[in-house]
Amino acid sequence: MKFASTRGKSPSVTLSQAIDAGLAPDGGLYVPEVFPQYENLGFKKDAHGNDQFDVVNTLAPFFEGDPLLPSLEKICENAFNFPTPLRDLGDGTSVLELFHGPTAAFKDVGARFLAECQSRFSKGKRTVLVATSGDTGGAVAAAYHGRPNFEVIILFPKGMVSARQQQQLTCWGDNIRAYAVRGTFDDCQRMAKDAFKDSRFTNAGLTSANSINIGRLLPQMTYYAKASMEYIALHGMAPSFIIPSGNLGNSVAALWAKKMGFPIGQIILATNANRSVPDFFESGKWKPQATKATLANAMDVGNPSNIERAIHLYPKMDALREDVSAISVNDDEIKEVITSGVEFGNVWCPHTATAVKVRETIPSDHWIIVSTAHPAKFETIVEPLIGKKIEVPIALSALLNKESVYKEIDAVLSQVVF
Ligand SMILES: *Cc1c(COP(=O)(O)O)cnc(C)c1O
Repeated sequence: MKFASTRGKSPSVTLSQAIDAGLAPDGGLYVPEVFPQYENLGFKKDAHGNDQFDVVNTLAPFFEGDPLLPSLEKICENAFNFPTPLRDLGDGTSVLELFHGPTAAFKDVGARFLAECQSRFSKGKRTVLVATSGDTGGAVAAAYHGRPNFEVIILFPKGMVSARQQQQLTCWGDNIRAYAVRGTFDDCQRMAKDAFKDSRFTNAGLTSANSINIGRLLPQMTYYAKASMEYIALHGMAPSFIIPSGNLGNSVAALWAKKMGFPIGQIILATNANRSVPDFFESGKWKPQATKATLANAMDVGNPSNIERAIHLYPKMDALREDVSAISVNDDEIKEVITSGVEFGNVWCPHTATAVKVRETIPSDHWIIVSTAHPAKFETIVEPLIGKKIEVPIALSALLNKESVYKEIDAVLSQVVF
């Protein structure tokens, strides 16, 4: 299997090379040249004749011809060491809970998988540079903390992440360093992109762990594949997904799982008040916008990088609109969903709340709401709305008790010490 650049001006590469490079030399993002088909993956059947999900089977074709292939089983075992359960809410709705990892957000899946891959092929010292709107940095720090030969540099927008998110970015010490950038997430992302264009840094072992890295997207496909197979076995119907979306990494993973033929119906991208994606679906023209700060801060992205992968997969707008739609949810609606959810025993994080809001507007059945983070990460928003304390998951509370260290800088690359 080879991986091509979305911009088509760089040669195709193997998976290890694509993971190592992060961004393609032509500035594009790597995508699989072909998508293996679900029915050819050789799943075992259960007693009822349903295919049994197998994460190694699902990912193996993407590793074909790559030196990482023999390690895939071990990579999966180490990376997928927490559950991603599907919870039935009744009323034709289920919730896919992706927040049972060490930093209580779905990004743990991709970050851990990527770290497992990189630590197998990397030689010498590597510096992982990561721009984060809140959750990526924590997940990456957790995944690389204490790994020999890896340094992690985190850039986060000052004052735009929650107190508990900031703690998860800044509590590590050792091989992890965090910078609070006086700017937005887009500034952080621009700084990271500038560094990757500069051979002084790339020659010195710079590498990326952002959702531009294909090593994060591939593992994220697997929970859509697994959930869709579980759902169809239980309900006899292919589920549709509503995905809280920001930089669109998680959504592109779902589109790829659908492209592989897993039983997935529609995909709705729920965004916050950052409307560049819903506006694109309406107008058919891609136009990045300035980032707005919202309650769902890990989705505060005005210029999502992964739109390039979505457009590459669906070059024709009509085909895209047939499978996918996008709906913007504002802060008032997020608050309303969190406030009313608790009546039914559901405590939603502000990101998941965007998807719950979208679900409330759809009459049909067989929807899976993707729950991207645990509400305890966003207690300052959620607790006042629900009028009670949220129990903190054990892994998260361990991080909250550590000392926080970071440096504040302007939004220029020259202030980052490599
Ligand atoms: C990162 C994140 C999102 C958005 O995911 P993308 O892959 O950037 O679209 C949604 N919810 C939470 C909790 C996140 O951390």
